[in-house]
Amino acid sequence: MSYDGPTELYIDGEWTAAENGETIETVDPATEETYATVACASAEDVTHAVAAADAAAERGSEWRTMSPSDRGAYLRTMADEIEAMADEIGLVESHDNGKTPFEASLDVDMVVDTFRYYAGWADKLTGETIPVPGNRLDYTLQEPLGVTAHIAPWNYPFQLAGRSLAPALACGNTAVLKPSNTTPLTALYYAKAAEAAGLPDGVLNVIPGRGSEAGSALVSDPAVDHVAFTGSTGVGKHIMSEAADNVTGVTLELGGKGPNMVFPDADLEAASKGVHYGIFMNCGQMCWAGSRLLVHEDIHDEVVERVVNRAEATPLGSGIDDDGRMGPAVSESHREEVLDYIQTGIEEGATVATGGGIPEDKERGYFIEPTVFTDVTNDMTIAREEIFGPVLSVIEFSDDEEAIEIANDSPFGLSAGVWTNNINRAHDTAARLDYGMVSINEYPQTFPQTPFGGFKESGVGREQGTEAIKEYTQAKNVNVNIDR
Ligand code: NDP
Repeated sequence: MSYDGPTELYIDGEWTAAENGETIETVDPATEETYATVACASAEDVTHAVAAADAAAERGSEWRTMSPSDRGAYLRTMADEIEAMADEIGLVESHDNGKTPFEASLDVDMVVDTFRYYAGWADKLTGETIPVPGNRLDYTLQEPLGVTAHIAPWNYPFQLAGRSLAPALACGNTAVLKPSNTTPLTALYYAKAAEAAGLPDGVLNVIPGRGSEAGSALVSDPAVDHVAFTGSTGVGKHIMSEAADNVTGVTLELGGKGPNMVFPDADLEAASKGVHYGIFMNCGQMCWAGSRLLVHEDIHDEVVERVVNRAEATPLGSGIDDDGRMGPAVSESHREEVLDYIQTGIEEGATVATGGGIPEDKERGYFIEPTVFTDVTNDMTIAREEIFGPVLSVIEFSDDEEAIEIANDSPFGLSAGVWTNNINRAHDTAARLDYGMVSINEYPQTFPQTPFGGFKESGVGREQGTEAIKEYTQAKNVNVNIDR
């Protein structure tokens, strides 16, 4: 199936080729065939996009002086436009990233909900009046930051771009979006939606390009006021240091090594389903994957058997031509990285309970067998590092204290799952986990209304919910001396 969506950069309300004519070729990971060719932004294109966003963010600009309710209406219209293109966006995402159409449709639905949620926020960005000594009126104004840069990864290309774009725009900022060059296509549909909604020129700019050139130029541009980055911890650290040169604020959503903790009093069928979903969804390419299964020794064998049965029954396929429930890895090089981790797990003494390689019946596509390792200890590489693939590491514990200690013994702190029917254990465990998100008796789960982000090396700041409003506004304090 050929791609007939947008292929050019979108800068200042215009579709344009890269100034040096460079392009990116994308490969469908399920077929290994070239799927699309799109423009690849150079550093010069980035400068143009940031200048356009900067002009659109000026105090006297249309966007800046618009009534907040009208700004909210633009976001609502964008949500409608995205919803109208949902089938097309889902299909393109499926070809570009390899995720199943079902997974892609969930991503698009989440974006539509996110834009509608933040549309409602646009005219509710109130400040506060502050009681101060003397005869004074003291109050705050919540102002936009200005130009926001959005750098998105390849695992949820459409959804994660929309997650930061929607609050940034709702708060009155302008935006430049750079998707991953591995999956640049669906980002361009934000430009289509903005164009169709009649957003003022320059408010939203979309520039597919390489991280090393376009991404780096974007982060270090002095006119950028905030960088919203989702990606690996290594690149996140680099971006934080680059942004520091201009004292630019950052929101970093980075990696994870989520513990999914199953206690003996849990509903084991529900837990096994949640464990399966938490590691094999999106081919395990999820920052918040429940990649460590922490299971009590009394139920270890039963839970492992259930999870292994589910893993072995998972139909593989992109879903475009069949009923696949787990797609391929995003690229050949990424599959190699995942297979290397599996080899390391074997060498360090873990046992492959199922999977461990490339499925025999898949001659094409970067598929990997859903893999479950038992006999894992928390010091092994496969328990410490983010594999970002369909590989589950099962670790046994004997009591609650040990479970919490193992869960917290990680450089990451993004998302954790707790499975128990004991209400005290549920809340006590949630309170003691060093994680930004804890989900009890379902995994993983998030909503546009709830904060998303992590402790420790999983990031800085929060997306989603009211927390994101704080990321994309700044308080101005006004003190009035009232003369009597
Ligand atoms: P990367 O960190 O490799 O890339 C993320 C983005 O940064 C891409 O757009 C990339 O561009 C760009 N980039 C790379 N180098 C630079 C640079 N020097 N300056 C500016 N931008 C740069 O992550 P992946 O795409 O591999 O995504 C996987 C990672 O994302 C995982 O670690 C995962 O945990 C994390 N993630 C975190 C989430 C969260 O919410 N916490 C959610 C989803 C993923 P290009 O690809 O073109 O090089």
